[in-house]
Amino acid sequence: MQEGIQNKCPRGASLKFAHPAPSKARPRILPVFLPLAGCPGRCLFCAQHAQTGVKTTSLEQALAFLEQNLEAARPDAPLEVGFYGGTFTGLPEAWMERFLAAARPHRERGAVSGVRCSTRPDRAPAGLLRALAAQGLDRVELGVQTFSEHALRLAQRGHGAEASLAACQAVREAGLGLSLHLLPGLPGHTPEDFSRDVEQTVALGPEAVRLHPCLVLAGTGLEQLWRAGGYEPWSLERAIAALAPAVLRFWRAGIAVTRIGLAHEPDLEAAVLAGPTHPALGMRVRALALHRHVEELLGGRRADSLRAPASASGGFWGHARELAEPYAGLGLERERVYFEDRDDFQLDVQND
Ligand code: SF4
Repeated sequence: MQEGIQNKCPRGASLKFAHPAPSKARPRILPVFLPLAGCPGRCLFCAQHAQTGVKTTSLEQALAFLEQNLEAARPDAPLEVGFYGGTFTGLPEAWMERFLAAARPHRERGAVSGVRCSTRPDRAPAGLLRALAAQGLDRVELGVQTFSEHALRLAQRGHGAEASLAACQAVREAGLGLSLHLLPGLPGHTPEDFSRDVEQTVALGPEAVRLHPCLVLAGTGLEQLWRAGGYEPWSLERAIAALAPAVLRFWRAGIAVTRIGLAHEPDLEAAVLAGPTHPALGMRVRALALHRHVEELLGGRRADSLRAPASASGGFWGHARELAEPYAGLGLERERVYFEDRDDFQLDVQND
């Protein structure tokens, strides 16, 4: 795949390439939501109750939910437990231990394949992470949001980029898997800042990223700022234009992009006041990233035809065929793209 990019296709050549997204097995996650639990404050943009669809959950209720679901889990369809929605490593130690202990017997019988948690960078010291790893934690999803000091300050995040870099190192030192969450479009955060975040993230080498373009959600500090005229969210077009090259960059670096945008729960839709949201945002961004990949492979030449795996047919043309024209611009009108029973792509380049 990378060779194809470096060695531009000669005219009349046929170029085979794999889909640029890394093919990593996706675990089945059992999400256990702990909205705002362990958080030192409320970040400007955060509305976890709307984002997770979970109204109020005490830690006791969350533990009972976990235990019930794990009792029903089967070794032939193992689950990975994910603690989300708050700052897991900011919980009282006894609670971290109770949650991890609940998963252990089910892991021993093969019904749990792993345990992950989300947390914030300034609550992830190496010593604590090592202790949690010893108790069964496998992966940390770090909400770094951005490495821009300016945007972190405006978001009242309470830490700078240094803390994020240190937390990534601590996660690795503890022998844990690493995923990063980015939040493009925060106040003061430009597409150029986001490009720098993408490069910094690639340099840190997480296995996966989640990309959540910043939305104005009801009940947040960001809502107040937006209503006072102090914040203008990115448009949908701007977000898609920034996200597609980022996704392609991550794919080529072997980093899985496991989510783009927040899950479209009814609670979330009711809470979104402004910002780049669309029910098919992830599909649109991934489709545009693939288009860009094909365009770069062509290196300014026109394609004669493209043979693609049938599995790629779903989102290939984008939402409402929005990429039909851009593909036609590369020589790939509808009748020149064939979806076949194959694993790779074959791009035939036009002769003069
Ligand atoms: S963004 Fe994360 S750390 Fe901040 S309030 Fe929300 S859950 Fe807590």
